[in-house]
Amino acid sequence: MPTSAHAYPDTQLLIDGAWRPAAEGRTIPVVDPATGETIGTVAHATRVDLDAAVAAVEKAGPQWAATSAFARSKIMRRAAELLRARKDAIAWIMTREQGKPLPEAAGEILAGADVIDWFAEEARRTYGQVIPAREPGVMQTAIKLPVGPVAAFTPWNFPINQVVRKLSAALAAGCPIIVKAPEETPAAPAELLRAFVDAGVPAGVINLVYGVPAEISEYLIAHPTIRKISFTGSTPVGKHLAALAGTHMKRATMELGGHAPVIVCGDADVAKAVKVMAFSKFRNAGQVCVSPTRFLVQDEVFDAFLDGFTTAAKAIRVGNGLDADTQMGPLANARRIPALEPLIADAVAQGGQLKTGGRRIGNTGNFFEPTVLSHVPTQARIMNEEPFGPVVIINPFTSLDEAITEANRLPFGLASYAFTRSAENVHELSRRVEAGMLTINHNGLALPEVPFGGVRDSGYGTEGGSEAIEAYLVTKFVTVAAS
Ligand code: NAD
Repeated sequence: MPTSAHAYPDTQLLIDGAWRPAAEGRTIPVVDPATGETIGTVAHATRVDLDAAVAAVEKAGPQWAATSAFARSKIMRRAAELLRARKDAIAWIMTREQGKPLPEAAGEILAGADVIDWFAEEARRTYGQVIPAREPGVMQTAIKLPVGPVAAFTPWNFPINQVVRKLSAALAAGCPIIVKAPEETPAAPAELLRAFVDAGVPAGVINLVYGVPAEISEYLIAHPTIRKISFTGSTPVGKHLAALAGTHMKRATMELGGHAPVIVCGDADVAKAVKVMAFSKFRNAGQVCVSPTRFLVQDEVFDAFLDGFTTAAKAIRVGNGLDADTQMGPLANARRIPALEPLIADAVAQGGQLKTGGRRIGNTGNFFEPTVLSHVPTQARIMNEEPFGPVVIINPFTSLDEAITEANRLPFGLASYAFTRSAENVHELSRRVEAGMLTINHNGLALPEVPFGGVRDSGYGTEGGSEAIEAYLVTKFVTVAAS
């Protein structure tokens, strides 16, 4: 339980370099998902605040774009150091508002600092091209320029890491940004922006608002000052925002939902597959867009995998994320429980077997049992909808072809996982699984230097790797002839 030197802060808006309450004085309560207590408030922006944020990016943008990449990079590196230095205090805040165990929160903050460092380096490598000309005396260049003011919308599952990829890429490219961070977990992202302010990012370059998500996105996406949109969240909301962005001809990056398949072949190291996947699944209580969900296990190792995974799920210690021995915290908000329960009930009604879990734990806080279902038929809802919680489905397959067909059956294409010792299988999987990311024999996703993004209904664009900064740059062709 919370004791200690820490106190959960009320969160304000950051507009034009000043932390301030909303113009109309409105606030939204913030609830601890482990206890159900209201622990603070977050300022609720309305049109007046949004107009002030837009005016701030308009004013600060040109100066930031004109700041050298070298200078921008140095400020960003300082922000990364401040974040590392403040890790423990921010982790406590994140655990209180989001529920994840303290070590996971601390890990997210350190990973966030690595993302900032990566983009700080990329800032210095936004090279253009010199294109050979057809005429003597002509110099043809393609130069890279910042796209302009960005509006970013981020969810509550990784309060810092969902913001840091967008914020760092925008800053590295020379763009100002307005972040609409999650109302449920507002204070940790505010601490991220504070690190940048304290590191010397000029007033108006980074702004932070909260409020009614649909009102804010509809206003900012349509606003002529905003040139680029980036959204992380569910596929239905992403499709709506992508349509809005299209109507207003705004560039957009969409990092949406998934329903990640895990193909465990008969020749796999089953013990390793169980260990790696049990850790990956129950991290952040399964509320992860790349969470492994649809396990497809080849007949000859099916029983061993199912038994091993079920045993691992039963052993997970669920509790308040502030308690030292907790391995999985509560679900981040109360609506996740009524979202999960009917999916599990439907799977069982359709003939699926409940191997462990399936229920809420207690009646205080949003605790839910790590849950394993097996032999769930394709038509069950959970085989088609993202559960976004600590639930897996484990089904058998006979041929690799069958498993790949099942993996590609859904319109999602974010993460995918496989375990096999066969080079031939690796080749088949690499070529045929329709996903933005495939990790084989380990979980190697989400490092700053590697691509992170989906295909099909999981969205478009990457938020990692050397392509990520491109989303915040435009290419201008300049040709000059000797006068
Ligand atoms: P939701 O679809 O209502 O919201 C998802 C996120 O989008 C939230 O952060 C929300 O604030 C934001 N949002 C919703 N409507 C918006 C709008 N019109 N404009 C801008 N932002 C908007 O669902 P939820 O109950 O918050 O979360 C449940 C579902 O969301 C999950 O099933 C999962 O699919 C998805 N989700 C995905 C991620 C991810 O990392 N991709 C993170 C959180 C939630």
